[in-house]
Amino acid sequence: MVEKVALIYTDKYQNYNFGPRHPLRPLRLKLTYSLMEKLNLLNHNLLETIEPRMAAKEEIERVHSTEYIDVVSKLSENPLDREIQPYIYGLGPGDNPIFKGMYGASALVCGASITAANLVWKENDIQIAFNPAGGLHHALRDKASGFCIFNDIAVAIQHLKTLKKDVKIAYLDIDCHHGDGVQWLFYDDPNVLTISFHESGKFLFPGTGNTNEVGEGRGKGYAINFPLLPGTSNKMFLKLFRYCIPRLLEAFAPDVLFTQLGVDMHFNDPLTQMGLSISVYRDVAQTMRTTARDYCQNRWIAVGGGGYLMTVVPRAWTIFLSRMLGVELKNQLPQSWIDEVKELVPYEETPYLLWDRNDKAELQLLSHPEIAKKMIDYNKELRMLCEEKYLPELMRK
Ligand SMILES: [Zn+2]
Repeated sequence: MVEKVALIYTDKYQNYNFGPRHPLRPLRLKLTYSLMEKLNLLNHNLLETIEPRMAAKEEIERVHSTEYIDVVSKLSENPLDREIQPYIYGLGPGDNPIFKGMYGASALVCGASITAANLVWKENDIQIAFNPAGGLHHALRDKASGFCIFNDIAVAIQHLKTLKKDVKIAYLDIDCHHGDGVQWLFYDDPNVLTISFHESGKFLFPGTGNTNEVGEGRGKGYAINFPLLPGTSNKMFLKLFRYCIPRLLEAFAPDVLFTQLGVDMHFNDPLTQMGLSISVYRDVAQTMRTTARDYCQNRWIAVGGGGYLMTVVPRAWTIFLSRMLGVELKNQLPQSWIDEVKELVPYEETPYLLWDRNDKAELQLLSHPEIAKKMIDYNKELRMLCEEKYLPELMRK
């Protein structure tokens, strides 16, 4: 059987734009698409590029309250509407500034994740679909949070539930920030397993994602968190990830894997303090691909997420797409893309390689053996927690 990959993309993604001084810049999507194109991934015979549609209000209402949706809609038309107190809904100066057209831009991201979910669920020859504009995992029922207005992931999960009522979904989030919105929205749901790897909430927004957040009611045991220490390196991350993910997903046996591919654990990311380099994503993507094949009915829905370096995000997501397609890319960048980056992102260091094996965190740890030992011990504790607590909870059911 032919196994195809769908990339959900449109230039209209550029409309999800909080303004020039906001860290979440839609330029990263444009540069991602451009790199994929220049590396000939977009004309690969197994790839289909699909235009997304906007989500209907009824589809967004499966996750968000009508009151909140109406507020977003009104402010979208008139950002200065004096009848509304936007900060009650998490909107306004700061993380989630109001902008004209924000309803349409957010509904499009939701629609794109629904499109991805639909393709993977319904089209027999499409096993994987990737919406790089998605991954807005912080948005809550009545509230915008952390650059996220509508939670496209939750909207797409609810959409899958309309296609099959008791569908089992494994949600795996590798964004540096805890996937709080998705976790809380499905906290009592035993059919949605949420797994989040993130920088510990002791050090980073949103502050949640502790190991004692395990779900409630019938959903107890179906929320899993791996809070990581700042400076965690490729080696440590991979050891934990490769150990836990196949085991957890085998035990849960979902109908589909849903991943949030935030790449803000990169060591240079301006918003976080982690130590991963781009090369880690080659291995992470490979583990996801194999695990989706072996334990998730060979269905994989992927969305983007955080990542605040315009030169890092495109390279990382291009690596993800290449692994989805089974294409082995060389560690080099097309000159035309390097030139484009030089022109559009002159304030970031120009990259010359697709990935970077020079892991800063690993080098730092070599010169601080006592810190390295602490971190290795902590990581081991997380693996034990998976083995002795998370796994038995899942197997019990
Ligand atoms: Zn993030």
